[in-house]
Parts: sequence; structure tokens; C-alpha cells
Amino acid sequence: MSFSSLSLHSQLVNTLAELGYQQPTPIQVEAIPVILAKQDLMAGAQTGTGKTAAFALPILHGLMAEPLAKESPRHIGALVLVPTRELAVQVQQSFVKYAKGTDIRIGIAYGGVSIDAQVEVFKVGIDVLIATPGRLLDHLRQGALNLKQLNVLVFDEADRMLDMGFMDEIKAVLKQVPANRQTLLFSATLDDAIFTLSKSLLREPKWVEVAKRNTTAAQVEQRVYAIDSDRKTEFVSHLIRSQNWHQVLIFSRTKQGVDKLALQLNKLDIATQAFHGDLSQGAREKVLQDFKQGKIQVLVATDVAARGLDIVELQYVINFELPFIAEDYIHRIGRTGRAGNAGLAITLFSQEDALLLEEVEAVLDKRLPQQWYPGFEPDFNKMAPEPRRNSKAAQKQRAKKRALGGKKR
Ligand code: AMP
Repeated sequence: MSFSSLSLHSQLVNTLAELGYQQPTPIQVEAIPVILAKQDLMAGAQTGTGKTAAFALPILHGLMAEPLAKESPRHIGALVLVPTRELAVQVQQSFVKYAKGTDIRIGIAYGGVSIDAQVEVFKVGIDVLIATPGRLLDHLRQGALNLKQLNVLVFDEADRMLDMGFMDEIKAVLKQVPANRQTLLFSATLDDAIFTLSKSLLREPKWVEVAKRNTTAAQVEQRVYAIDSDRKTEFVSHLIRSQNWHQVLIFSRTKQGVDKLALQLNKLDIATQAFHGDLSQGAREKVLQDFKQGKIQVLVATDVAARGLDIVELQYVINFELPFIAEDYIHRIGRTGRAGNAGLAITLFSQEDALLLEEVEAVLDKRLPQQWYPGFEPDFNKMAPEPRRNSKAAQKQRAKKRALGGKKR
């Protein structure tokens, strides 16, 4: 299968050839014809599968075939809603890359930065807007944007939007978009909440699912090392040093945990930066740029970074602890093994995370066998007794962890 056989505009096909994309990925093969036929789409696709191009290319094609009236600058033709600023930037960069050589204008709107600069861009006119829900509503309230000519509405990482509690914002946006629009919904994980959402958003959608439900990218090797909690930092520094790893992404559950680990690794002479929701937008962008350029060896992040980070060469992801929300495991390890590259995802497992590992295994529908790393074997004398799986205590522990997981990270 080639891109030209998908009936995309020749300018887009040329750009893809320049980018070195030899053939469409499975999600692109499935989704592009549906979107070109102006049908609604419900797509289950993980990050790293090429899903951004799967919706960006047919949207650009549509705008080239039927350009927006330039005399109505506050109107937009396509809107992509995303949960985080990082994902907004990543999606915008992809659109800009694919729109090269066309006169289609791509705009972006996210919070944490000046609203005025964004308004100035809208006055000149844009065709496609990538936005986080809160900032989009601010613009709509101010009258800086008008969605009456909207043809295509995309929800990217819809599952994450629900996790982050954006339902009210989504409802408010929906009140302002035309009923006869085309709607595309992309989600890494498909569950009951997504089906319920899809019912209220989509009209007779086509279903596309490229990987088995809730599976991880096939190229990612997953290893779980059992280790004592108090030796995790030592173990991580040993792995990075002895194997000379670069561009390692480590996930920790809390901002405090992230800051502490980054400090400890820096003390051990491993160039590390912290990445979490407390950093200003400017600081986040700088850290990401330094990481992509290899100026820092390790990025320690909360799950905020689990979406939207697109570094094709990223080979190593380490879960310093398991996430409280089992689905986040898939998003975390989806940061590696992108676009067909091999990846290694290592989880540091200590006894207190036994229930969380069980939940991850349930989501994956697969066992993740634990291994020992020579020299870092767990000390059985220190181990707490394992909680009985369905005991009252175990249920309580789960409820507590869920509550904690719901807090802003
Ligand atoms: P995504 O799943 O949209 O985050 O894309 C993951 C990565 O795959 C990005 O770096 C894209 O530039 C790249 N990519 C997307 N489509 C293709 C393709 N057909 N061939 C090669 N690389 C691709």
C-alpha cells in the first residue's frame, strides 16, 4: 500500500516522500479513506502508531479541496481538541510538517501562556486549530473565535480528556459547533466511558482499531525487576551508567518524587531534569528541547508527560513506581517503541505495588513476570507480607490509591 493509492492530494504525497514515510501505517490505511469519505470515526490507536497523520492528512486534503472563505478570519475549518499542552504542541508540529507547501494555516491555543498573542494570530486567520479545552473556551467567550464554519472536530487522546475531567468543557464546546460536522474520536484505551462519550458525539461512526484493545506497542520489550524500594535510585543509576543509556525517560508518581529523584541522579553526575505540572510552559519547552537534543541524559516526569512526548529515538522508559491508574502504564511505555523502533520499558517493582501490578496485568490481559537483577536482588527479610488479594485491606488499599491517583499531578 502506498500513500498515492489513498487518493491524497499530490502535494501531501510529495511531502510524505520528502519526510521519508515510505508507506502508510495500519491506522493510516484504515482511517484515511473513512475520513476522506466524510464519515464519523471512532479509532482505537495507541501513541506511536502514526495516528496524528491518520487524521491530519485527510483534514489537510479536505481543506485544500474546499478552502475556507478567507474573508472570515475568526472562523476555523477543523478543530483538534487535545488534553495537554505538550500534545497540542506535538500535534501542531505534525500539522505544520504535513502542510508544508500548502497555504493552510495552523493555529494553536493552550493555557499557561499569554492569550493576546493567540488572539492576534486568529485575527489574521487560521484554518486548523489545535487546542486544549479550557483555553479554547476562553477564546470562544471573548469572541476571538467562531466555530460556525467548522467541518471537522477531532478528539485526540479522548480517554485522557475524560481522565482529566474535561467533560464539562467538552459539552460547552459542543454547544457552539454545527450539528452537521464530521467528528473523529481517537483514544489509546477503549473502555465503557469512551463508548458512552462516543454515543453522544458521533453519528453512525466507522470503527477502526489497529491493535488489540489495551495492548502495548509490540516492539516494546517489558521487564519488571523486583527490587527493594530503598535501592531503586542506586539501581537506576547503575543501569544508566553500566549500559551507557542516553535519553532515558523515568516516570515517578508525584511531583515531589520527581524532584527528589532528579536531584539524586544529578548528585550522581547523571545529567537529569525534572518535568511536571509545576513548571512554567517556557521551562517545560526548554527541558523538552534539551532532552530531545541530548543535552540532558535523563528526564524524570510525572504522568503529565506520558502524553504528547514524541521522541522517535527514545529507547528507554523506566517506571520508578507503577502508576496509580493502570491505563497510564500503557501511555508511559508508549513513549518508546515509536514508529517501528525498538524500545525497552523497565518497571521497578517493590512489594507495596503488588496490587497495582495486578491491575496493569489485568488491563494488558497478560502476565508481566518479575525478574531479579544480579546484585540488586530483593531482601526477603525486609519484605512486608503481601496483602491478600481480595481482602478488605486490599480493597481499601485500592480505593485509597485510586483517590490519590485522581489528584492533580
Ligand atoms: P503518532 O502516533 O502520531 O504520535 O506518530 C508517531 C511517529 O511516527 C511520529 O514521529 C511520526 O512522524 C511518525 N510517522 C507517522 N506516520 C508515519 C509513516 N507512515 N511512516 C513513518 N513514520 C511515520
